[in-house]
Parts: sequence; structure tokens; C-alpha cells
Amino acid sequence: MSEQFSVNRELFDDVMVPNYAPSAVIPVRGQGSRMWDQQNKEYVDFAGGIAVNCLGHCHPALVGALQKQSEKIWHLSNVMTNEPALRLAKKLVDSTFADKVYFANSGAESNEAALKLARRWALDIHGSDKTQIIAFNQGFHGRTFFTVTVGGQAAYSDGFGPKPGDIVHAEYNNLDSVRALISDNTCAIMIEPLQGEGGIVSPTDEFIKGVRALCDKHNALLIFDEVQTGAGRLGPLYAYMDLGVTPDILTSAKGLGGGIPIGAMLTTTDIAKHLKVGTHGSTYGGNPLACAVGEAVIDIINTPEVQSGVKAKAQTFINGLHAINAKYDVFKEIRGKGLLIGAVLNDNYQGKAKDFLVAAMEEGVMTLVAGANVIRFAPSLVIPDEDIIEGLARFEKAVAKIAP
Ligand SMILES: *Cc1c(COP(=O)(O)O)cnc(C)c1O
Repeated sequence: MSEQFSVNRELFDDVMVPNYAPSAVIPVRGQGSRMWDQQNKEYVDFAGGIAVNCLGHCHPALVGALQKQSEKIWHLSNVMTNEPALRLAKKLVDSTFADKVYFANSGAESNEAALKLARRWALDIHGSDKTQIIAFNQGFHGRTFFTVTVGGQAAYSDGFGPKPGDIVHAEYNNLDSVRALISDNTCAIMIEPLQGEGGIVSPTDEFIKGVRALCDKHNALLIFDEVQTGAGRLGPLYAYMDLGVTPDILTSAKGLGGGIPIGAMLTTTDIAKHLKVGTHGSTYGGNPLACAVGEAVIDIINTPEVQSGVKAKAQTFINGLHAINAKYDVFKEIRGKGLLIGAVLNDNYQGKAKDFLVAAMEEGVMTLVAGANVIRFAPSLVIPDEDIIEGLARFEKAVAKIAP
């Protein structure tokens, strides 16, 4: 290295805005589900860049797609369309309920587009009173001001002045709490078909079908935020496919790019037509580089082999966590779906999820948390079984340190 300064964790505090508190570890390369830090220490990756690296690090098909596109054309803006965007959109449309796709660069931007579309749809069809958006406590939809206000943690949206209006929150898995809020002035309900950041909470069958029915009754749009659950994370290509409920608008990001920033909003022709020319846009959304990688991701994950692999790997994971718990008695529940797994700490370890994460990192395995009481696992969808076993062995050592 030729820099005249040290590139280390201390530099972060010198030069970065202090909105994050990153780990002391700085990974510098990855291969599959392993990665290495500046000191060349090796880690098993159960975090997947927060449910993003759905095919691990440096998957040859993704590297190949990126390399190939990088030698053709990088950027055009939306004055012109491009082949990778058209190909990816066609594959998404052919594989889902949707007829139309809008590309963005992140989850928040995809949700921002979904919310603006819902508001515009309601204004065009039903007039200016139908603006209410119902979302859920503990829900997470991104950090733009609209999406963070729709998200269910006021702490994240407070302190920035006047918020976007007419947004209310119900309780997840409590249909009565939705019933109490919804009316013909409800424009949309935005919901995660399994709450990720909120603690890995699955919807009950009755609840998610009831939400759909309430939307139908009051002419409100149902928006599924599948930024975390989509792109094969739970098993099917999108979570709605297993729920017996079809949304009107669906958003996807995280896994869709396998590590390249991309987001997408999917909807029907009838709803899409309300985003007329000039109503919304993005300079980079749908750029050829990101879309070429997204297409490679879809080609791999939208296959029976990968999707049944997720189920089998999830079972290996859950069995391993139960075995650890049988020895150390730290979890009160192991929940989730597919390869989005939450281990809920029991009463003896309340508030300590971060301690487990830090101890696991020391033992050479990367994990996530979802709130203060849930350790979250979101590994690659194609993680080799031997990496699951090795990672869990390291995780067990971390658990043993905290719960001797
Ligand atoms: C991560 C996440 C987002 C935000 O995505 P960004 O790419 O960080 O903007 C939105 N919704 C859900 C459900 C998420 O998990």
C-alpha cells in the first residue's frame, strides 16, 4: 500500500460521519461463505451482508456477469433503456404476479416508489381523501424520510422535523388492530411478509389473509416489502408465493443484486399506469451493471435446485442451533423461514444479542442481530454444508464463553 496513513478502524472515527458504529474487524476479501480480514483471520459468513450476499462472495457467475458488462457499457441514464434492464425485468415479470417493473438502487428507494405510486393511484382514481397508509409496529422499510416514517420505530423517524402525514401503525399479527384503523380513506397497507429487522416474526395464515381481505374490502393497495424476504431467502423466489396471498405491489432489493446495489418495484399494468412519464425517476435505477448482475442472480436462484437447497440447509442450521441450545440453554425459540433464522434469547440473556455477535466474531463466525434479543442468521443460499457445520461449531464456542 502506498497511502501515507493507516487504513484501520480508527480512521473511521476520523473521517466518517458518526451514524454507524462498525465492528473493529475490516474484511478485505471473501470467497463463497468464507471471508478474511486485514490480519488474514478467516471467518465463516452467516451474516451475508445483512441478507444481501445470497450467493456468497465472488460467485463466479456474478463476477463473470459484472466483468462482461463492465467491458460493454456502464451507464446510460433513463433517456435510454438498456438490454440488461430489459432482460431482468422480463425475467421478473415472467416469474411473478407482476406485469411491470421499476428499478431503483436500494430497498428504501423501491419502497419510496411503491408508496408514491400508491398515493398517486389513490389520488387519480379515488380523489384527495384516500391518503392513509397503514404499516406495522417494528416494521422496517428503509431510511428515506417517507419510508422511515412508514417504518414502525418512531425513534428512527423522530428528530428530523415534520414527517410525511397520514401514516398510522397497527400491530403485526393482530388483525383487529388493522380493522380498527382501516377505512375507505386507506390508500395502502405496507407490510413485510415476515418481519426481518423487527425480530424474525412470521405472519399467521389468518393474519396475512385477513390483511388482504381488508385491503379488498376498502379498495386499498397491499404492498409487500420483500426487500429482505425476497430473492429466494425464504425458499420460494418471493415469500408471497408460499402464503396464498398476492400483493398489488412488491418491492425487492438486498438479495436481488447479490451484493450489487439494485432495487425493484413490481406491480400490475393497471396500477403501474399511474406513474406516468415524469412522475418519478432515478439516475442510476436500472443501470446496465447492476441489472446484468441481477439477471445472473435470478438465473441461479430461480431454480428448483437452489430453492430446495435452501430448505435442506435451513434444516441443518436449525438442528445445529437446537443441539447447541440443548447443551447451553440460551434460546427460548428458534424461528424464521428458509435461510432467515432467528434464535431468540431466553430470559437469562435478555438484551444480550450483541454480546453473542461479538463473541461469535472473535471465534471466527459472522452473525447478525434483529433487535436486542434475537440473533439472526442470513447466510448464502448456496452455503456448503461443511461451512454451516464449521460456522456452528465456532458459534458454539462463542455461546460457551457467554453461557458456561
Ligand atoms: C433492508 C431493508 C430495507 C431497506 O433497504 P436499503 O437497501 O437499506 O434501503 C427495506 N425494507 C426491508 C424489509 C429491509 O430489510
